[in-house]
Amino acid sequence: MRAKAFARLALLAVASGLAVVLGWTVSAAPPGAAPPWLLDGLLLGVALLTDRRRLAGVLVSGGLGAVAGWMAIGTDLVAATVLLGGSALLLAIAAQLLRYLRWRPSDMATMRGLARGAAVVLLAAPVVPSVLVALLGERLALLGLDGALWPRLLIESLGLAVMVPLVITLARRDLLLLLVPPLLTSSLVLAAAYSAVAALVFLQHRLPLGFLLFPPLLLLVGRLGFPGAGLGILVTGAIALLGAAFGEGPIGFVPDATGFGRLAFTLFMLVVASAMVYPLAAAVSERRRMSQALSDQHARVSRNEQLYRLLANNASDIITRVRLDGRRLYVSPAVEVVLGWTPEEMLRPDWQNCVHPDDRPGFVAAREQMARGVDYVSNVYRYQRRDETWCWIEARLHLVRGRDGTPKEFVANLRDITDQKRAELALETALSELAETAATDGLTGVANRRRFDEVLDLEWRRALRAGDWLGVLLIDADHFKAFNDSYGHQAGDDCLRAIAHTTAAQIRRPHDTVARYGGEEFVVILPNTHPAGASEVAERIRRAIAALGLPHQGNAGGTVTVSIGACAMRVGSGFAASRLVEAADRALYVAKRGGRDRVHLSPPPETDTTVVPLLPHLRRNGTGVSSAMVS
Ligand code: GH3
Ligand code: MG
Ligand code: MG
Repeated sequence: MRAKAFARLALLAVASGLAVVLGWTVSAAPPGAAPPWLLDGLLLGVALLTDRRRLAGVLVSGGLGAVAGWMAIGTDLVAATVLLGGSALLLAIAAQLLRYLRWRPSDMATMRGLARGAAVVLLAAPVVPSVLVALLGERLALLGLDGALWPRLLIESLGLAVMVPLVITLARRDLLLLLVPPLLTSSLVLAAAYSAVAALVFLQHRLPLGFLLFPPLLLLVGRLGFPGAGLGILVTGAIALLGAAFGEGPIGFVPDATGFGRLAFTLFMLVVASAMVYPLAAAVSERRRMSQALSDQHARVSRNEQLYRLLANNASDIITRVRLDGRRLYVSPAVEVVLGWTPEEMLRPDWQNCVHPDDRPGFVAAREQMARGVDYVSNVYRYQRRDETWCWIEARLHLVRGRDGTPKEFVANLRDITDQKRAELALETALSELAETAATDGLTGVANRRRFDEVLDLEWRRALRAGDWLGVLLIDADHFKAFNDSYGHQAGDDCLRAIAHTTAAQIRRPHDTVARYGGEEFVVILPNTHPAGASEVAERIRRAIAALGLPHQGNAGGTVTVSIGACAMRVGSGFAASRLVEAADRALYVAKRGGRDRVHLSPPPETDTTVVPLLPHLRRNGTGVSSAMVS
């Protein structure tokens, strides 16, 4: 690294020495005197490209090289010191001004940066150093131009204007691109062609051929950009200065031009050429940058597109893009596995006809929500597979907006949830069956005691809210022990089933409930029923059971009968539901005592101020098992 930096500084020293000698040669000045534009241009260009911390090294090695150069052309030490001071001052001023403007060499690639840099280098920086050097030169009678300030300033400005952009351009990395394929051939051909034309223009003065220069120069810049511009100015400068030294080229048409005149004229021409080629190169490079950015963006977009396609194509969910009018734009291949339809078939306009008719309203509503600008909607629907079976689909819809923010289309993620749905349905059925079983009496199929407790609580509270009547019937088979004894338990069970079904058949209102209360006892809950209604229903049940005519030799009359205790009350606060059941139970007792096969209606219970829990209810037969009911 160090060796490399040292080599660079050594190179700069050599270049600076050569710049002094060359500058002296081309200005055809007397021995010892030379305008320093070439040296200053070189050093300023290099300084601008150099990091601030390394600037001292540049000044020292450039200065040493320059002093060697001045020695070589016979400049005395005092004059060399003055010139060196002028150069250092110029560098300091230019660097400071450009830093103040936050100018960087890369700004040359833009028109604005180019103009700002040119303003500093051409106009501002050279003034003070040139004035100082000219004044000192005059005072000390040291310099060939004898203090002629304006010519000195002119040469310095023009020289810097040519040299600084040239150095910066030739230091660009992309210059190296010209030296390797694929640009090598075209850069060689173009450079050779341009050199030939430049030689034709500058190395003779019989024909004024200057106009020939521009087409190949523009071609060079147009094809090769900044490196081409640098190359063009370098070639032009070298050949033009060579020609001018011999009085050839355009200056040859001015017969008695002085050395100064030749140099100024040549530099002026180079400035004009620079003013043309660098902006052109800047425009070319700006356009290239833009088109590069554009094609980068295209590449990025298409890469992303490919990536998303890859994801969509390999996802097990179906991915679709759908316009808000329902037209599908894309369906991922997973559709064939899930539904049996090919993606092409799913793109047909009539794809929505396969949505299950029952699910269509929800399906349409989801799309309408999208159109209204809702960003995310999910819904579940059935879609007909190719084999005509139904597939449950869970769709998640994500809205896609246009540039102006209005809803444009949506991307939907469709998942086959048929198995899940099937499991859910099976579970639901099982649960409801379980609930049914838990609430049903196994022997008779009517509601069981537990269900009775729930319904009584529910109806009690409903009646309490509405201030309604509530009736309860307690039904007990007469001499049933004897029935069992005569016919056996199996027949007893059949008989209980017959009593339950006959009772349930007499119940008309949807909210009336029949339950097995326990043993051979049943209970009926009659919401919104007053006492007369309750005893009417009880009588109907009693008669219907008697009418079955089931033989029962242990019973008076020889057939199966029931006794029924009924009670109905207007439900009010201060009562517990159990009091109603107790009252019905008392009525049943009265019916039994009265000779059985009859209904007894108990008056509503007295107001009860103690709060009694609903459960447990009294259990007449003491077993407490196998109670049930039906509603
Ligand atoms: P009463 O007219 O006073 O009601 O006389 P009863 O014999 O019916 O009264 P009791 O309470 O003494 O007897 C009830 C009988 O009901 C006892 C039992 O043999 C019969 N029983 C109770 N549960 C079942 C049952 O699930 N199946 C059958 N087969 N019989 C039952
Ligand atoms: Mg009994
Ligand atoms: Mg009985």
